[in-house]
Amino acid sequence: MKRKGKTTQVKSRAVVLAAGGFQANPEWRARYLGPNWELAKVRGTRFNTGDVIRMALEVGAAPTGNWSGCHAVAWERNAPEFGDLAVGDQFQKHSYPWGVYVNALGRRFVDEGADFRNYTYAKYGRVILSQPGQFAWQIFDAKVKAQLRDEYKIRQVTKHTADSLEELCGKLEDTDGETALREVREYNAAVRTDVPFNPNVKDGRRTEGLAINKSNWANTLDTPPFEAYAVTCGITFTFGGLKINTDAQVMSTDGVPIPGLYAAGELVGGIFWFNYPGGSGLTNGSVFGRIAGASAAKAATG
Ligand SMILES: Cc1cc2nc3c(=O)[nH]c(=O)nc-3n(C[C@H](O)[C@H](O)[C@H](O)COP(=O)(O)OP(=O)(O)OC[C@H]3O[C@@H](n4cnc5c(N)ncnc54)[C@H](O)[C@@H]3O)c2cc1C
Repeated sequence: MKRKGKTTQVKSRAVVLAAGGFQANPEWRARYLGPNWELAKVRGTRFNTGDVIRMALEVGAAPTGNWSGCHAVAWERNAPEFGDLAVGDQFQKHSYPWGVYVNALGRRFVDEGADFRNYTYAKYGRVILSQPGQFAWQIFDAKVKAQLRDEYKIRQVTKHTADSLEELCGKLEDTDGETALREVREYNAAVRTDVPFNPNVKDGRRTEGLAINKSNWANTLDTPPFEAYAVTCGITFTFGGLKINTDAQVMSTDGVPIPGLYAAGELVGGIFWFNYPGGSGLTNGSVFGRIAGASAAKAATG
C-alpha cells in the first residue's frame, strides 16, 4: 500500500478488492472494448484504471464476464475527461425518448423509443461512440420541454435554440444541417399521429417507413422553440473482471478459491452482459460487498 508516496506492507489474513473497473484507463478501453473507446469521456473517478484487476490476475485470479462490454451513456459533448464532483451525473442526457437523435451526417441512427429509458440508456453510449466524430444531437420541440429531465437545465450544456427547424439545423456545428433538416421532416411525416402519446406506457406511437423507425413516443417536431443538445459517449463502468463464487471469494484460473482474497463491485466480472437495468450497479455493490465483508471477517477471525 502507498501512503504519502511511500510503499508500506500491511499484513492481513483476508483482503477485499473493491477498486472499480478499468473505465478510466484509455489503453485498456481500446484494448478490450475496441477501437475508439479511448475517446470516450469517463463519468466517474479517474482512479478506476484496472490496476487492482491486473494485480489479481498476476497472482492467478480468473478473468470472467463480458470484457468487451460496458455501461456507457449519452454525456455532454464538452464535458471534462473525467467526472466533475460539482456536476455529478448531470452531464448525462437521458430524455432522448421524447425527441430524435441525428449524427454528424445529419442522419438518425437509433430507435430513440425502443424501450423505457432505464433499459436503453446504458447501451446507447456505445451507439453514439460509433457515430462519425463520436457525437450526436438530441433534438426536441417545445411540446416536450416540461418533460426534459433536470440535467438539461444545467449551465454546462452544449445547446442551440431556434424558432424554426431550418434555423436550428443550420446552427449544428460539425454537422450536415441540410441533411438533418430533411431527416427531421421525413421523420415528422412518418409519425403515426393517430396513436395517442402516453409517456407512462410503451404507447406504440411510432413512425412507419423510415430506415430506422422510432417504436414509441414519436412526437412530431413542430412547435417552436426547438432545442438541440450535443452529446458524446460517457463510460460508467466496465463489465469484465474477476471471477468470484457465491461467498465472494476470488477464484483462481485452476477453478479453486484463492485463500483470503475476496472481491465486490465493478471489478467483479460476470454480473452484466451487453446491457444493464437502471439501479443495479449499486445493488450489485451492496449485495456482494456485504457478502465479501462477512466472508473476509470470518476468514480473518476464524
Ligand atoms: C456518474 C455516475 C452515476 C451513477 N449512477 C448510478 C445510479 O444511479 N444507480 C446505480 O445503481 N449505479 C450508478 N452508478 C454506478 C455505481 O455508482 C458504481 O458502479 C458503484 O459505485 C461501483 O462501486 P465500486 O465500489 O465497485 O467502485 P467505486 O465506487 O468506483 O470505488 C472504487 C474505489 O477504488 C479506488 N481505487 C481504484 N484503484 C485503486 C488503487 N489502485 N488503489 C487504491 N484505491 C483504488 C477509487 O479511487 C474508488 O474510490 C453511477 C456511476 C457513475 C460514475
